Amino acid sequence: MTRRFDGDRLLVATHNSGKLEEIAALLEPFGVSCVGAAEMGLPEPEETGTTFVENAQIKAHAAARATGLPALADDSGIEIDALDKAPGVYTADWAETGQGRDFVMAMEKAHRLLLERRAAEPWTARFCCTLVLAWPDGEDAVFPGVMEGRVVWPMRGSQGHGYDPIFQPEGHHVTFGEMDRWEKNRISHRADAFRKFVAGCFGD
Ligand code: IMP
Repeated sequence: MTRRFDGDRLLVATHNSGKLEEIAALLEPFGVSCVGAAEMGLPEPEETGTTFVENAQIKAHAAARATGLPALADDSGIEIDALDKAPGVYTADWAETGQGRDFVMAMEKAHRLLLERRAAEPWTARFCCTLVLAWPDGEDAVFPGVMEGRVVWPMRGSQGHGYDPIFQPEGHHVTFGEMDRWEKNRISHRADAFRKFVAGCFGD
């Protein structure tokens, strides 16, 4: 049984203002006001975990300890089966150039490695998003979200972000990059994790 969230203030352990706004809008109907890590002057902890759960726990617990508030953090990425589930927790790192992120380069790298390994198609893959809610007393709850699909090449679509143009979700003929935003936000790994979080912490 998940511990219910009965406070009215939640710290969202992210420095990404887009993520903060999205989560704040989602929780407003439950009478919860959200505050971001930047607003609280928190540093970004190093993501030293080897799983999405560990990284989300690192971020959520660090924020809860530092502020005394319950804190929500997420960690996400794509796992490609034929690459032994890489890039996984290193999804953002693959795009790092030293001067910002280049996701076209990261997607080309994934494709190059699949060809080098002569991986048979379909190149099954999944987007994962793990949410962790940590309480200041050290307890936490984990909500994993998944969207299964496959990597396609060439890239298709210019909507969205990150690896969206090479990911075709199961049951669809378009990539996340070609998909309407509303539709992606309804079916995505992030939506899956958030549904579980809301049901677990605010449900009847
Ligand atoms: P983080 O969870 O903010 O560390 O993000 C990890 C990385 O995963 C991002 O930089 C994106 O490259 C990738 N990613 C996570 N979710 C998505 C998605 O919905 N579409 C495309 N890329 C994503």
